[in-house]
This record gives sequence, C-alpha cells and structure tokens, in this order.
Amino acid sequence: MRKRPSEGGCWFCHEDSGPLDFSTEFDTNVHVDCIKSALAHDNPEAVIMAREFDLPEAQDKEVRYEVPDNAGSTEVPNQEVQRNGG
Ligand SMILES: [Zn+2]
Repeated sequence: MRKRPSEGGCWFCHEDSGPLDFSTEFDTNVHVDCIKSALAHDNPEAVIMAREFDLPEAQDKEVRYEVPDNAGSTEVPNQEVQRNGG
C-alpha cells in the first residue's frame, strides 16, 4: 500500500511492501531496487543511499551535492562554534 516516506513507505515509490531497507542518511525506508532504478537516472539521493548501502552500482557515480552533517536531525537553533584549540 502506498505511504509517504514519513509514514514508512519507500522514499522513491512510496510503497511499504517488499523488502525495505532503512536509510539513516534520509531517515526513511527505501527499496534497494528503487535505489538502483533511480541511480540509472543519476538521482543524487539514490547515489547517497547507494553509498550508504555499499551498492557496487554507486562506485562510478558522483554525488552532486554534499549531505550536511546534521542531515536527518531537527533544525539546530544556534550554530555551534567550532573551537580550534591546539
Ligand atoms: Zn520503492
């Protein structure tokens, strides 16, 4: 049955049936087959998930954008200042 990714459906096809894996990068369920399909279209999200799952299909793909360190977390009200101590 179709569900939004936030409700447990696949990130790409929105179905919650079949063998779902969980992407911690995107905090969503996803089918590996859907990742592979999206990879064929150079979907940047698929590339990131494929790297996360160590899919061999991702090795010749380049990530088009960087995932921020706080991806998946809630908004941070104040930016933390990194101390460059010696
Ligand atoms: Zn899917």
